[in-house]
Amino acid sequence: MLELDQITQHYAGRPLALSLSLRVAPGDTVALLGASGSGKSTLLKIVAGLQVPEAGRVLWAGEDLVAVPPERRGFALMFQDFALFPHLDVRDNVAFGLIEQRLPKAQAREQAEALLQRFGLAAQARQKVWTLSGGEQQRVALARALITRPRALLLDEPFSALDADLRAQLREEFSRRIAESNMACVLVTHDETEARAMARHAWRLREGRLVALW
Ligand code: ADP
Ligand code: MG
Repeated sequence: MLELDQITQHYAGRPLALSLSLRVAPGDTVALLGASGSGKSTLLKIVAGLQVPEAGRVLWAGEDLVAVPPERRGFALMFQDFALFPHLDVRDNVAFGLIEQRLPKAQAREQAEALLQRFGLAAQARQKVWTLSGGEQQRVALARALITRPRALLLDEPFSALDADLRAQLREEFSRRIAESNMACVLVTHDETEARAMARHAWRLREGRLVALW
């Protein structure tokens, strides 16, 4: 269980102040909606460990993670602009997290190839990522996020750079893969249709607090 306990954050000169708690069970997807600037990305960064909150705790299974660095939290974060490595091919982008965990390169690449096979991207494994379409790049980003078997997946507006048809298609595909992996998933989106399609519960972030939507 991912647990945010009384997270508090504000920025000097800004009205926004996060002051909230939230729980997400493994296998569950929770959507966070909210206007631009309402603090959605800030909250994900705090969960991921890229930012230390002023106060409050991020817990997994009751363990406080505040002192645990991002790469040791077992969480994967995926941004809207995919942030793939342009100098690496698709396979090495996907293998990256395993190599970072010190798995030998050959084994990491083998696992990456197996995952790419499942994602329908085996033929593109040796291409540079920038030769792929937007939808394909987003799939590579998901494969890269999932390869280390994270216990939580944090998605920050994952499809907002894509057109409507592709968005609907990826929504289904992502939901299926998230359900298979039994992760706790936090989906940040400004698209209520997307939230309805993917999340069992949704909250709106308003004035730093979470208002229950469904
Ligand atoms: P959202 O993702 O909902 O659009 P953000 O979390 O990116 O919102 O930003 C929330 C607010 O906090 C914005 O007003 C933003 O300008 C401000 N903000 C974000 N990060 C910082 C920072 N490091 N320093 C100062 N202000 C920040
Ligand atoms: Mg944002």
